[in-house]
Amino acid sequence: MSRVDIIGIAYLFASLTFIVGLRLLSSPVTARQGNRVAAVGMAVAIIATLFQPGMSNYVLIGIAVVIGAAIGTGSARGVKMTAMPQMVAIFNGMGGGAAALVAALEFIHQTNGGSIEAPRAATIALGAAIGAVSFAGSVIAFAKLQELMRGSMFVRQAKYLNGLLVLVIVALGIALVVSSSQWILLVLLIVALLLGLALVVPIGGADMPVVISLMNSLTGIAVALAGFVQNNELLIVSGALVGASGTLLTQLMAKAMNRPLSNVLFGGMGAAPSAAGLELPAGATVREISVDDAAVLMSYSQRVVIVPGYGLAVAQAQHQVRELSDILGERGVQVKYAIHPVAGRMPGHMNVLLAEADVPYSQVQEMDAINGEFPSTDVVLVVGANDITNPGARDDPGSAIYGMPILNVDYAQHVIVLKRSMRPGFAGIDNVLYYNSKTAMLFGDAKESLQKLVAASKAVSMPGSARKEPEAVKA
Ligand code: NDP
Repeated sequence: MSRVDIIGIAYLFASLTFIVGLRLLSSPVTARQGNRVAAVGMAVAIIATLFQPGMSNYVLIGIAVVIGAAIGTGSARGVKMTAMPQMVAIFNGMGGGAAALVAALEFIHQTNGGSIEAPRAATIALGAAIGAVSFAGSVIAFAKLQELMRGSMFVRQAKYLNGLLVLVIVALGIALVVSSSQWILLVLLIVALLLGLALVVPIGGADMPVVISLMNSLTGIAVALAGFVQNNELLIVSGALVGASGTLLTQLMAKAMNRPLSNVLFGGMGAAPSAAGLELPAGATVREISVDDAAVLMSYSQRVVIVPGYGLAVAQAQHQVRELSDILGERGVQVKYAIHPVAGRMPGHMNVLLAEADVPYSQVQEMDAINGEFPSTDVVLVVGANDITNPGARDDPGSAIYGMPILNVDYAQHVIVLKRSMRPGFAGIDNVLYYNSKTAMLFGDAKESLQKLVAASKAVSMPGSARKEPEAVKA
């Protein structure tokens, strides 16, 4: 068996581990195992690549691997759970940038002193352009998630600019195929970087989940194209896996936001709120509730639905919320968790947190399944969620997130909101829910509020089946 055969078998093994790893990642129970399986495959792939015929520059490769591994290990160990989405975004951008560089270097390598055949040049142009778009777009997504940038800009012009840049890239790609010019490749890369910026800078509000998954799929496609350019089957397989899963996720996210992808990218939507913003009811006031009243209200309920949001992740209050639901459950209250598809800052964010706290899966309900149950729910406890409960998205055409499906918590009998202040959520807009007469606010860090609620709920006496109504919430 030749060296090339052994490398081929190693690549096949690595490809299989990626597929099995992805499968295991689809459930929180097996996700860690999936990560390990795929990591082993990646290690095998890297070692096999070092033995590829024609390999040289081992010192440079070694230095790059050590630096990359140190940065990767350091940041993965040090990252806070709440900063995970931005880390995923920036790592994704690195993948796209690397794919663009591989394509560009292959072009330079092959055109030095000659031209390159058309199909190869076209593949390189496509891979370089898509990788550069993904790199620039992911860097902006990182900046937005890190709150280094907020909201949106240039909204009205964006759709024309993006369309124009796509046309310029197509024209440059054709020119590249015809001329094999390295200068054209450079210009193409710059324009593709601009397109990445122009695509993501205007997107704010609630459209970020769609954009993040789109960047993910673009990176996968760029990597697969780099694989074609390099005749590397493993890159093709792994790129195709990332591209396909990213595309499926993009579709799911766009469906969750009730927005066609074209609308997200070219519609200039998801922008900061218009000057009109959300119409608040005249004389709107916010009411507060004490911990004791909230505990009594929930303890004497038949059905309570807990809505976790980004604030639950910030407060790391998943264990406390589980404790509270256990206490309520022991008192005969039926407790369910309502999960919005874009709650938190990454797909599946809430599911991961709840799984960490061993919340039974049977209690966890997706948005479509639970939305019909709110009218028969006594109390909804909103824990650090904001945009995903904003009735403006459903009722107010002037709202920046109008059209995004929400959890209809305002249809329940009572709503208790745990948050620290009246500050808005990710979309940067006010939430009319807080001014609803059914809603009462319990201000404070979610973990602390839940700890107090747990203590107060334990102290609530339950005299037989008599229902003691709590004192009215105070204005
Ligand atoms: P939001 O960002 O709308 O609201 C979170 C709320 O949590 C804030 O209003 C904040 O209010 C509160 N909060 C923050 N820290 C704490 C704390 N320690 N204790 C209590 N409350 C806290 O989150 P949602 O989950 O409702 O919505 C997700 C948003 O993020 C959507 O707009 C979505 O589009 C966007 N997004 C989602 C992504 C995804 O893939 N899931 C990716 C990118 C964006 P206060 O400061 O007053 O406490």
